[in-house]
Amino acid sequence: AGPVAPPPIRQLPPEVVNLIAAGEVVTRPSAALKELLENALDAGAASISVTTRGGGAKALTVVDDGCGVPVSDFPLLCARHATSKLSSADDLSSIGTFGFRGEALAALSTVGRVAITSKTRGSPLAYRASYAGGAITPAGTPPVALAGAVGTAVVVEDLFYNLPARARAARPAGEEYRACVEVVGRYALRYAGVAFAVRKEEGGGGGGGGGGVPDVRTVVGATLRDNVRAVFGAAVERELLPWSFRAGGVTGDGLASNAGYRARKAVFITFINGRLVECGPLRRAVDAAYAGVLPTGARPWVYVSLTMPPEILDVNVHPTKKERKRGAEVVAGAPPPRAAPNRLVRTDAANPAGALD
Ligand code: ADP
Ligand code: MG
Repeated sequence: AGPVAPPPIRQLPPEVVNLIAAGEVVTRPSAALKELLENALDAGAASISVTTRGGGAKALTVVDDGCGVPVSDFPLLCARHATSKLSSADDLSSIGTFGFRGEALAALSTVGRVAITSKTRGSPLAYRASYAGGAITPAGTPPVALAGAVGTAVVVEDLFYNLPARARAARPAGEEYRACVEVVGRYALRYAGVAFAVRKEEGGGGGGGGGGVPDVRTVVGATLRDNVRAVFGAAVERELLPWSFRAGGVTGDGLASNAGYRARKAVFITFINGRLVECGPLRRAVDAAYAGVLPTGARPWVYVSLTMPPEILDVNVHPTKKERKRGAEVVAGAPPPRAAPNRLVRTDAANPAGALD
């Protein structure tokens, strides 16, 4: 048979575009949780509490005591490319926050059912709204006023309810929950001093008070070592040595297990400018160094926090690119806590998010 007539090229409808993009940003509950933790840290939270149901797939709740969202910003809160953290393309070189794409809440409200409650210091009341596909649902409903504390609570339910293939591919709830606990435990090291808690809603408490005993719990003002003890146990913390270095504008510090430490599973935690990243080359270098010291089968525990000038980093890396291939592909900026929320602005005009991919 000869060539068939080519099907016409068509522009995808926006709902389909958004669904595809959302599925890329939010791959599993722990990835959603990472975005919500970063938002809470961007908001200057001193305390962040996480509860999950069904490993986070049925429900994921993150409550913070950060700056909150003004009720006037509620309509834009989950809109795609709406952010309070970036207003022009020039700002891209000096990003001081985790967020700047305005993608996370948009994605979450596209692949899950989102409800947000928030109160700013200047407001006598908290407000709550539900979101679907980036907008308040039902469309046009004003946020509901209620009593509440300063800060923000984000609830995401039924993750991937409209992406059945993704929902089917989900790992068992226990495994997703462990991944959530791991993310919180790691941020608790880098942001020691902020109080973190993560617990299962179904675990023991029988609902109501937010569930049972937390699986990670750190307190306000704790040190890095306090939090290593809280997350990994005193037996691990005892075996760790502090280290630090400074070279060519890069400073690093952290903790690393001594030659007597014998674990069967390696722990390797890397933060670069405040962001949790995978750094394959660094990990291989560290593994090689320990290989000469540890007996066969024994693995190290290493925590690395690197800081480098934002100019040598590139913020134009998609959040799903977790692995840093070169030094220059690392994302910039440990977020300074902010006292007051910035206004939400749409970034479509400058379209930095589009330029990022
Ligand atoms: P980004 O973090 O890239 O700006 P998000 O979709 O994660 O995009 O969040 C959109 C906006 O919602 C943020 O810029 C911020 O203004 C607001 N926001 C989200 N989470 C919080 C929070 N926990 N506390 C205060 N404001 C928040
Ligand atoms: Mg964000």
